[in-house]
Amino acid sequence: MVSELSDTITFLGTAGARFVVARQLLASGGAWLTLGSTQILLDPGPGSLVQTAKRKLDPVKLDAIILSHKHLDHSGDINIMIEAMTDGGIKHRGTVFAPSDALDQDPVILSYLRPYPQDIQILTEDGTYTINDVSFRTPVRHKHPVETYGFIFETPRHTFSWITDTRYFENLAGHYKGDLLVINVVRLKAGATLDHLSLPEAKSIIEELKPRVAILTHFGMTMWRAKPWELAGELSEETGVYVIAARDGLKFDLTQLERY
Ligand SMILES: [Zn+2]
Repeated sequence: MVSELSDTITFLGTAGARFVVARQLLASGGAWLTLGSTQILLDPGPGSLVQTAKRKLDPVKLDAIILSHKHLDHSGDINIMIEAMTDGGIKHRGTVFAPSDALDQDPVILSYLRPYPQDIQILTEDGTYTINDVSFRTPVRHKHPVETYGFIFETPRHTFSWITDTRYFENLAGHYKGDLLVINVVRLKAGATLDHLSLPEAKSIIEELKPRVAILTHFGMTMWRAKPWELAGELSEETGVYVIAARDGLKFDLTQLERY
């Protein structure tokens, strides 16, 4: 029997790094994943609550909130989103996933909120986690100033990966095989900062992984000024992989992957 369930990713923001976030040139609310009947919020940065309301997404339906790392552009709204997921702490529900340094050391998740969700699980390197019939892995610790993980999600229908903030390192790509690759590309050119991926690095990752589709997101100023949608078009031609640039509010339905 053909299932009517689908998997979608809604981008509640595409801003990366400080200036684009601070000026809200792009939104920074993270991403809302609807994977079958499971609802997940990934990296609720500043404005996540406003973005969910604007897109008519109901935080009380969230099954989980996942934090890749504690930098503000990813975690700014995590406390209010935990409160929203639990209906102000009245409903003891949902799971929060976060690296240990988001909870222990200079924590971004307030202590008084911690009893609200049903569970808080600590992300570790090579960890596997489940949320209903969805599982995800955190294959490798990223090279970033705070503890950071990317993800490979597996639903009954699709496998997709998300390479979050990191500096480029050897075999980074090898950890993230999937039908769809979402990749945070902060910088246009390599070399200026070591903590984020640049466009040429993203290109080599896409060439190595050859996903059906790659989505660029989390743009810093240099990427934004260079028009990510044009850069994505060029990457498509150069790599032979269909590459698109996320935009605020984009809802990507993973059934589209079958076309590529
Ligand atoms: Zn970061």
